[in-house]
Amino acid sequence: MKPAQFSYIAPETVEEVLAALAEHGDEAKVLAGGQSLVPMMNFRLARPSVIVDIGRLAADESLDGISVDEGTLRIGARVRHRQLEHFPANGLGPADGPLGSLLRGLARWVGHLPIRVRGTFGGSIAHADPAAEWCIMAQTLGAEMVVRSSTRPMRIVAAEDFFETVFTTSLEPEELLTEVRLPVLGPDWRVGFCEFARRAGDFAVVAALTALRIEDGSIVEARVGAGGVAGTPVRLRAAEAALVGAIPTPAVFHEAGLAATGEVDPSGDIHGSAGYRRDLTGVMVRRALGAESIPTPV
Ligand SMILES: Cc1cc2nc3c(=O)[nH]c(=O)nc-3n(C[C@H](O)[C@H](O)[C@H](O)COP(=O)(O)OP(=O)(O)OC[C@H]3O[C@@H](n4cnc5c(N)ncnc54)[C@H](O)[C@@H]3O)c2cc1C
Repeated sequence: MKPAQFSYIAPETVEEVLAALAEHGDEAKVLAGGQSLVPMMNFRLARPSVIVDIGRLAADESLDGISVDEGTLRIGARVRHRQLEHFPANGLGPADGPLGSLLRGLARWVGHLPIRVRGTFGGSIAHADPAAEWCIMAQTLGAEMVVRSSTRPMRIVAAEDFFETVFTTSLEPEELLTEVRLPVLGPDWRVGFCEFARRAGDFAVVAALTALRIEDGSIVEARVGAGGVAGTPVRLRAAEAALVGAIPTPAVFHEAGLAATGEVDPSGDIHGSAGYRRDLTGVMVRRALGAESIPTPV
């Protein structure tokens, strides 16, 4: 299939991007790596009449940089999945603890190599597929999205207010996602991830991400999230409650998995019934909690 007719704008500065988005409103779409937008246009699931390509902008620190600032890791929207697979590229010592392991490990689960070379971190977040690894991470860790436009002051949007439903965020048509901020996880955090997909490189049927802060052998803080079980990635608060205060053991992880199963209400589709996805959520959570490292897709 070929896309419907569109006009193409390739601005040279962020200000020109914002001006183009403000001028064309919901007729326009940002083109980043094109790994989701172009297939959707080819299938005529998206029919923007104006494409604003951010791939030809001159290098821009806010869009292309990865930096650490007082406990916060900032990832520019135009950073490619492949760059995160090799994180940290430029010696970001403090961030290269559990969060670094998570970024490197999760990146390998995003599609195939050619997709990771072209696709961008911000494109994945803005596309808001509820099973996308970066969206699950953003929701679970409580990321903040930095959003700019020419019509109002810069906004910082919490992940829980950013993801609205399938492929839908609180971004306005004239807004550009420029950066995502993540909390740096210190050495007392232990991270885990588990994903079930039908084939390597496919989107997850269900995936779970966990982060536990352990002090004196007990869990003092827990973050548990899942994708593929609702219109957005979700925080699993009952599973988190089952973990906080406990000693991390397989039995506790089993209880947290059961709690996760009880708190999701997924829909069924051709990849799995609602009941299957619900049960799978518990299994993914339990395995993520017990994982010694982020697994490699096979
Ligand atoms: C075969 C295949 C398998 C894949 N498997 C996976 C997978 O397993 N896991 C996964 O997470 N992803 C997967 N993807 C999607 C891939 O990760 C995409 O790269 C990503 O979803 C979109 O990033 P992009 O830079 O290509 O964005 P684009 O396709 O260019 O844009 C996607 C959407 O986001 C908007 N957008 C992009 N950047 C911005 C911005 N800065 N501000 C505002 N809006 C913006 C666009 O307007 C568009 O609506 C797969 C893709 C393919 C083709």
